[in-house]
Amino acid sequence: MAYDFDLYVIGAGSGGVRAARFAAGFGAKVAVAESRYLGGTCVNVGCVPKKLLVYGAHFAEDFEQSRGFGWSLDEADFDWATLIANKDHEINRLNGIYRNLLVNSGVTLHEGHAKLLDPHTVEVNGQRFTAKTILVATGGWPQIPEIPGREHAISSNEAFFLKALPKRVLVVGGGYIAVEFAGIFHGLGAETTLLYRGELFLRGFDGSVRKHLQEELTRRGMDLQFNADIERIDKQADGSLNVTLKDGRQLQADCVFYATGRRPMLDNLGLENTRVTFDNKGFVEVDELYQTAEPSILAIGDVIGRVQLTPVALAEGMAVARRLFKPEQYRPVDYNLIPTAVFSLPNIGTVGLTEEQAREAGHEVQLFESRFRPMKLTLTECQERTLMKLVVDARTDKVLGCHMVGPEAGEIVQGLAIALKAGATKRDFDETVGVHPTAAEEFVTMRTPVAG
Ligand SMILES: Cc1cc2nc3c(=O)[nH]c(=O)nc-3n(C[C@H](O)[C@H](O)[C@H](O)COP(=O)(O)OP(=O)(O)OC[C@H]3O[C@@H](n4cnc5c(N)ncnc54)[C@H](O)[C@@H]3O)c2cc1C
Repeated sequence: MAYDFDLYVIGAGSGGVRAARFAAGFGAKVAVAESRYLGGTCVNVGCVPKKLLVYGAHFAEDFEQSRGFGWSLDEADFDWATLIANKDHEINRLNGIYRNLLVNSGVTLHEGHAKLLDPHTVEVNGQRFTAKTILVATGGWPQIPEIPGREHAISSNEAFFLKALPKRVLVVGGGYIAVEFAGIFHGLGAETTLLYRGELFLRGFDGSVRKHLQEELTRRGMDLQFNADIERIDKQADGSLNVTLKDGRQLQADCVFYATGRRPMLDNLGLENTRVTFDNKGFVEVDELYQTAEPSILAIGDVIGRVQLTPVALAEGMAVARRLFKPEQYRPVDYNLIPTAVFSLPNIGTVGLTEEQAREAGHEVQLFESRFRPMKLTLTECQERTLMKLVVDARTDKVLGCHMVGPEAGEIVQGLAIALKAGATKRDFDETVGVHPTAAEEFVTMRTPVAG
């Protein structure tokens, strides 16, 4: 049967754009449908605008610390509307770049909501298109629990477009998005509480990292409330929010921000017209080739709920494009040693196994840990400490994990990830000459193991 397209991609986010562009570059006839914004979550309501807001928040401490270096500034004044307008302008520019990337690589762009009518047919804006293969790359969506008053709460989608910086913000959640936004609001001057129902935030990160960040955020004056959850939210006559916790306590806020997880975006996608199956959390089930239970339908990125990060969606998109249209270049995605950062203030950077994961995997673990006050702070009042930690296999000397809390941790860990990927041992770290004076050199000068 002749199809309109070789590949029809639903969703022009990180994974979809990558797959579409490269498939077209390999000579395939490709279309992509996008219902909301080109570039998807990352560009519009994720990584990019978030990092811009983190930069914005960071200036507060820069101004403060500059005094130790002889600078005197009048009272710093922050204008939220300017930050948001400039951020929007930059995102518009990026949207244009994504449009050009697609169009210039020969991809047909359909701007509208796509719905599957059958395993080979998609409907967009009332028009039907057929394709040999359909790639579902529809991403995820924030989830706010069904509590009374949930309509008064916002998610990350709305936070990027708030008209004004709220005076008192209650951030709910213990994942990286909650921690990052708490840092943004706090850094920009809002009274910020981070509320999480578990013992300690950032489950899955190294225990030392989690504790260190807890201490640093507390030292900065952020209100951390663990083992706490919201029962209901009531709007007051003055527009403020009265939040009742499950333990009966009441908190007052001007904004309640939920970052308690993301669901796959499957709304009105028509997957019921196919044999596609779902896992117990509702994510699309795929095999190692991103093949769903329906032979003509593949899925990648956040919608499969594997590792919900942009570089992973990009790698999956690339793998699909190559496997379908350039099989001689196909390489499976390697999910080991994916480095990540949390752009909290201070940042977290991490790659490889945590101490807890290494022990659980049966490694005889040797730990190296350093906590120090960075040189940049020595002329300032700021008492912030940086943490660096190496998790090493005592038998093989292989470095299993690198973890850091401190300025530019994400930047530093990217380089270390290459070393770990290449199988670096602790001896390789020791024999590497440091860059002096930097904080990063501490990673190659930790000599004495700490008691684990
Ligand atoms: C606040 C926040 C911060 C983040 N920060 C980071 C970070 O710092 N680093 C990092 O690596 N990752 C980060 N992420 C995660 C990252 O954004 C995602 O992992 C990534 O965007 C997933 O790409 P994707 O292609 O799967 O989906 P998306 O990028 O979500 O793209 C899906 C696209 O599909 C479109 N779509 C959905 N349904 C349809 C339909 N039926 N028809 C047509 N179009 C449709 C959507 O409009 C969307 O544009 C962050 C996410 C959030 C929410």
